[in-house]
Amino acid sequence: MKRLVFAIILIVAWVAAGAGDCYTVIVSLDGLRWDYPEAFNTPFLDSMARDGVKAVMSPSFPSSTFPNHYTLATGLTPDHHGIIANSFKVRAEGKIYSMSDRKTSRNAKYYGGEPIWLTAQRQGVKIGTIFWVGSDVAIQGQHPTYWKNYGKDRLTYEQRVDEVLRLLSLPEADRPRLVMCYFEQPDGSGHHNGPISRATRRTVEDLDTLLASMWQRIQRLDIATRVNLIVTGDHGMTWTENCRTVRPSKVLPNTEWIDCIVGNVPANIYVKSKQEGEFVDSVMRALEGVDHIRAWRKADIPAYLGYGSNPNVGDVLVLPDVGWSFTDHVYTHAGGNHGYDHTTPDMQIAFRAVGPDFKRGYTKADRFPNVDIYPLLCYLLGVKPAPNDGHLTDLHDILAH
Ligand code: AMP
Ligand code: ZN
Ligand code: ZN
Repeated sequence: MKRLVFAIILIVAWVAAGAGDCYTVIVSLDGLRWDYPEAFNTPFLDSMARDGVKAVMSPSFPSSTFPNHYTLATGLTPDHHGIIANSFKVRAEGKIYSMSDRKTSRNAKYYGGEPIWLTAQRQGVKIGTIFWVGSDVAIQGQHPTYWKNYGKDRLTYEQRVDEVLRLLSLPEADRPRLVMCYFEQPDGSGHHNGPISRATRRTVEDLDTLLASMWQRIQRLDIATRVNLIVTGDHGMTWTENCRTVRPSKVLPNTEWIDCIVGNVPANIYVKSKQEGEFVDSVMRALEGVDHIRAWRKADIPAYLGYGSNPNVGDVLVLPDVGWSFTDHVYTHAGGNHGYDHTTPDMQIAFRAVGPDFKRGYTKADRFPNVDIYPLLCYLLGVKPAPNDGHLTDLHDILAH
């Protein structure tokens, strides 16, 4: 009943154009683990918490970059939008989609659902993006109003901030209502140096300083009092090391059964199509009792992972325990990784939001799923969302009105 009442209030608010008057900047810091601002010196993120909202957001499964950025854009789980991993087999075509192969990662046919920029533009609202996953792909034949080409437009972090300011300074008729800006760090540092390390501290603290300068510059704009800023990320990070590795070549030596193993945290295993059922049984038997991994037949993947309905999910899913990898790669030093069970503590993400549409000094008690970001952005833009897996009602407590 409460949910229904809130939904009615929201619709009334939309009609009254209460939301939609403001501008929003959403920044994704790749791999911004939930507790970095607690562990490191981040005065700007702390000031966002004081003047706005502080929360913890959960990624969707698998807790990897491409699936989750596209979830933030569409409000759909990876299983539902189709980017089910950074790399996966496209069964109908017998080929591998990979985020690092531009021929596949820039091909619109793999990107299901409706990203926020299409939802908004269909309703006459302009969006600007700076390297958000999917924004440089002509999904349904369209790009955001303003966008950058990830492979070609090499912008430094300072230039990305300049671009945010440029977009917010455009004449009103051209100005995007939402700017989505992506930074690769602190993910890179988390991988190379581990999550809680001197180098990752430095990286996070530098990003904090960069965002503080961006917010200061925004404060000098005429529209300053109408700008919301959201800072969040796509997943967390946990420590890994070479001795915590399960070797596929050891536990699955019989290559006759397997067509390919794609990914390592998690790994999607595609069995050879001849006698498929039997090969799946053989793979499952071989993996039975192997420590530090969990393995399921596609149909038996537990419901809480929200994974397995997509045709491109492997016949067998192997999910290493947190901190473990399923790979034959030999790591020379300890570092960090993600991709794990999206409900585990180290995979959680920091969330901060400040501006006229958000409460001041509010800490959200429960963590919320990242599918809620799409309906939140639709609300802030005053546009009607496409069908999605999120619930704006999960976030009604963080909103100012
Ligand atoms: P991972 O840590 O493997 O999940 O992925 C992180 C990496 O994704 C980053 O270091 C970027 O190089 C890459 N990445 C992020 N956005 C894009 C994009 N739009 N196109 C291609 N690669 C990207
Ligand atoms: Zn990432
Ligand atoms: Zn990463």
